[in-house]
Amino acid sequence: MYIKKLYQIKRPVLSFETFPPKQQSALETITDTLGQLTALHPDFISVTYGAGGSGNSGKTTEIASMIKNEFGVEPLAHLTAITAKRETIHNTLADLKAHNVQNIMALRGDIPVGFEGDPNGDFVYAADLIREIKQVGGFCVGAACYPEGHIDCDSLPNNYAHLLQKQEAGADFLISQLFFDNAQFYHFLERARRAGVTIPIVPGIMPMMSKSQVQRMIFTCGVSLPSRIIRILHKYENDPQSLEQAGIEYACEQVTDLIKNDVDGIHIYTMNKPQVAAACKSRIDFLLK
Ligand code: FAD
Repeated sequence: MYIKKLYQIKRPVLSFETFPPKQQSALETITDTLGQLTALHPDFISVTYGAGGSGNSGKTTEIASMIKNEFGVEPLAHLTAITAKRETIHNTLADLKAHNVQNIMALRGDIPVGFEGDPNGDFVYAADLIREIKQVGGFCVGAACYPEGHIDCDSLPNNYAHLLQKQEAGADFLISQLFFDNAQFYHFLERARRAGVTIPIVPGIMPMMSKSQVQRMIFTCGVSLPSRIIRILHKYENDPQSLEQAGIEYACEQVTDLIKNDVDGIHIYTMNKPQVAAACKSRIDFLLK
């Protein structure tokens, strides 16, 4: 089923993000994780892709296929444009089709540190990849959006212009980068709608798990920190378990507020931790009872 159909018939659509395990040998771990995640009945599960073929990106199709064909849940396979040749993309699309995977999250990606291959691919921006996938046909396509602006985009109006380009290229829905301040998302949503973006815009929520994770998000994604997050980080500096609990609780409060504000869906960055997804899901079930 095309994910865009889900957004037409259901509100809020619940989705989880997973990533391929780093070790080739850890496929059993992801099978177990997927078992626990699918038991929570999400509407779809996405699987990330290492840009430039880094990490274990070769496993993305395999895991997406497992989600669809073994667990009976709709998968969203991520795919990146950076450094990719047209022929490689066409081969991946054929492979996804052969596994009955019909939904792709099309991203530019960032050149990975230590990348040694040819950095010159056939695509510059995510919109170029979206256009190519749509030209091949047979896929529903999601794309990324950034409530606080993409870290490399120095002008906020351009943030919206680039979103429109993704929509015009054929993107069917947008999933946001994480944020800790819902007000930033509502402001972004309003501006995007005013700019002419009409496709579903789904907030992405990543529960805070550790201080180092939050620091990484500030530097790599440019997300801002509300003072409450800073206070939580300070309070539980030496108590990782309580910090994790407080992070999950904070994320659940974000989800509660987003659902009350009638968002299209909720996308949880699970970090392959089923307990994170379970906590958010039980909060959603309680709200929708
Ligand atoms: P683009 O839309 O191409 O934007 C990249 C930059 O170029 C932005 O600054 C944008 O403003 C600018 N830009 C766009 N169009 C133009 C134009 N015409 N002229 C000038 N500038 C332009 N990364 C991975 O490697 N693997 C994943 O699986 C993955 N999953 C993700 C999932 C989500 C929900 C999100 C939010 C991000 C994900 N990323 C992933 C990270 C993403 O690849 C990076 O954020 C990357 O830097 C930008 O990707 P994009 O698709 O938004 O690129």
